[in-house]
Amino acid sequence: AREQLDQYRDKPAMTLDGHEISLLANVGNLNDVLKVSGLGADGIGLLRTEFMLMHSATLPDERAQYQLYSDAIHALEGRVLTIRTLDIGADKELPCLCQVKEENPALGLRGIRYTLANPQLLKTQLRAVLRAANHGHVRLMFPMVNQVEELDAVLALLETCRRELDDEEKGFGDISLGIVVETPAAVLNLPAMLPMLDFVSIGTNDLTQYAMAADRGNPCLARDYPALSPAVLRLISMTLQSARSQDVKVSLCGEMGSDPRLVPLLIGLGFDELSVNVGALLEVKAAICRQEFSRCTQLAGRALMADRLSELDDCISSYK
Ligand code: PEP
Ligand code: MG
Repeated sequence: AREQLDQYRDKPAMTLDGHEISLLANVGNLNDVLKVSGLGADGIGLLRTEFMLMHSATLPDERAQYQLYSDAIHALEGRVLTIRTLDIGADKELPCLCQVKEENPALGLRGIRYTLANPQLLKTQLRAVLRAANHGHVRLMFPMVNQVEELDAVLALLETCRRELDDEEKGFGDISLGIVVETPAAVLNLPAMLPMLDFVSIGTNDLTQYAMAADRGNPCLARDYPALSPAVLRLISMTLQSARSQDVKVSLCGEMGSDPRLVPLLIGLGFDELSVNVGALLEVKAAICRQEFSRCTQLAGRALMADRLSELDDCISSYK
């Protein structure tokens, strides 16, 4: 089976009828970045920087972060690198950072909320990313953005960083900007944010958790709250519709993208891009290459009509 998958390494991720999907990888360290070109991915769709930076006793400074991001860019040989700013809080703790104990951490100071509350830390990362972008194709995205004010704040900080780097005569590059859509509020507030964005990436792990009020790590809830449900599917579809109406590209970076069974549905919904686990890259690419786009679109239409988990599941399992 491995050999059969190997034949997809150098093929584009394209349906039988020529609809191309950009296939990217989710990574959390340089080692995985190095594997990606060899696996025939178009680049990195999610670099979880909290994992990359978590190992030292103190958070790597600007220079060290600049080095790490530049190394990743060089390893990608022109392919895109999508960097997500630190997503800490909730279940992710960084030993080197002070995090206050929260009663309800999943609903607390996490993602962009944490970094906006610690602007010095965020600026260090933004400056390192801007400088690294001098060496290649970099996209930057912000986790847990719910409201347009959060986006305003981070973009203002980014502008400050550009001005400072200019004054210090340090080179920096152009970056594309995006948010991770991972709360129902982000879906509903998206139209107001889209004019400021080049792309969005749907984080279905958290989108499911926050739409269903169901802890993503709680095994007691896993059966009744699967990754795909009618409500989450509608939120995904709303996101795609708003983004497409403003010509903003939509990617998916949640675990859902790594399930080859869901590939026809995701293609049919209209994703431009899927970002998946390194281990799932070839299988997902093989699944894309087996599809017919027009049939995928019909499948998505049927799936969006399903009112029950079982109907949705039947819809997907009966698709051949
Ligand atoms: C997500 O929430 O779907 C996502 C991709 O990010 P993480 O799993 O790192 O929260
Ligand atoms: Mg998330």
